[in-house]
Amino acid sequence: MSSSANLYREAAANVDAAADDLGLEPTVRDILSSPQHELIVNFPVQRDSGEYVMFQGYRIQHNNVLGPFKGGMRFHPAVDLDEVRALATWMTFKSALVRLPFGGAKGGVAIDPAKHSRSEMERVVRRFTHSLGENIGPGYDIPAPDVGTNAQTMAWMMDTYLNSRGPAERQGARGVVTGKPIEIGGSLGRAEATGKGAAYALRHLYGEYDRSLGDQTVAIQGFGNVGSHGAVALEELGMKVVAVSDATGTVHADRGLNIDALIAHANSASGVAGFSDAETLTTDEFFALDVDVLMPAALEAQITADNVDSIQARVVLEAANGPVTAAAAEKLHAGGVDVVPDILANAGGVIVSYYEWVQNKTQHHWSAGDVDSQLRNTIWDACDRVAARRNGAGSTRRHAAYLEACDLLQSVYELRGIFP
Ligand code: GLU
Repeated sequence: MSSSANLYREAAANVDAAADDLGLEPTVRDILSSPQHELIVNFPVQRDSGEYVMFQGYRIQHNNVLGPFKGGMRFHPAVDLDEVRALATWMTFKSALVRLPFGGAKGGVAIDPAKHSRSEMERVVRRFTHSLGENIGPGYDIPAPDVGTNAQTMAWMMDTYLNSRGPAERQGARGVVTGKPIEIGGSLGRAEATGKGAAYALRHLYGEYDRSLGDQTVAIQGFGNVGSHGAVALEELGMKVVAVSDATGTVHADRGLNIDALIAHANSASGVAGFSDAETLTTDEFFALDVDVLMPAALEAQITADNVDSIQARVVLEAANGPVTAAAAEKLHAGGVDVVPDILANAGGVIVSYYEWVQNKTQHHWSAGDVDSQLRNTIWDACDRVAARRNGAGSTRRHAAYLEACDLLQSVYELRGIFP
């Protein structure tokens, strides 16, 4: 079985375990076990050389019982159907857990953005958006950034969508995507939201321990949007970021890395490698660091049966989607390591996406302070509910989070009934 097929199987297994505990109605379990819609589009794009190449894009719409489909667009060479299915499934449970009126979706294209010019990427984004046609829309399915996409990607998606619609449909249609640049309807605080949300979840956890985060050490894998903003937020909470690892290498300093300087370096050098004022480590050494918190903020399946025994951290904060495999999570739990599950730890992004969508709908503008306090309250409310479930059931935080999410989905199906 391919690793992404495995990933999808694991996404479904989390739901099954919660369904068993809750005695979930068999039809609801069946509905949640497979995506509602799976769209594959093949489209040509002209390269700068003049030749045309074909790309394959996906949009998986897992469930929309709570509201419009919602989730990111990933551009990465390893994107395939099963990976996007798993990511779409997680979005449904993430939105349900933090009580957003959204369903779950995810999309992507198997492409390495680093191998294409800006103008080629623009053509890929526009042609992909055009191919999705009526399958996206502000009241139907709302994409956002994910790995390999950013605010500029969303600007091109929005512009393509608006230009393919008549004038009557354009009103309020900026909400077709979230994570946009501020100038065209993005929200203050959206860029920082996922990293900040993870920091708030960690602060809540330490509150449960009745301990302070001051001087606690953290190692971060990934220094893109989530890892870099997460590093800033954790440093603001008084933590020492002692190691950062990305695709270019790992940098480490026991006294703590200077995050502002590391961000400036990573921006100019396209990665953390070569940062002066730090020693380098191998990936294996990075995962084996004796730190208080390990924050995987890159791709899925990074902590697996192969390296889990080397982990010395006391807490694993899943800022990426699916960074710890099920087998590894079990081992960590058995060894007393607290794993803050992805659908809670990285929900900050979609939470502030929701605020952006609301601002687009109402034509109001929220201040950075309003966004931040709402984000914090929403994450802490979910943390409270997960902790309460866990004390009741004595389960892992991941299982408690799925119980919380499935319970809401079950109630909604009960109230609405299953059509027709
Ligand atoms: N791609 C992000 C995630 O995995 C954000 C999704 C969104 O804002 O819709 O949660």
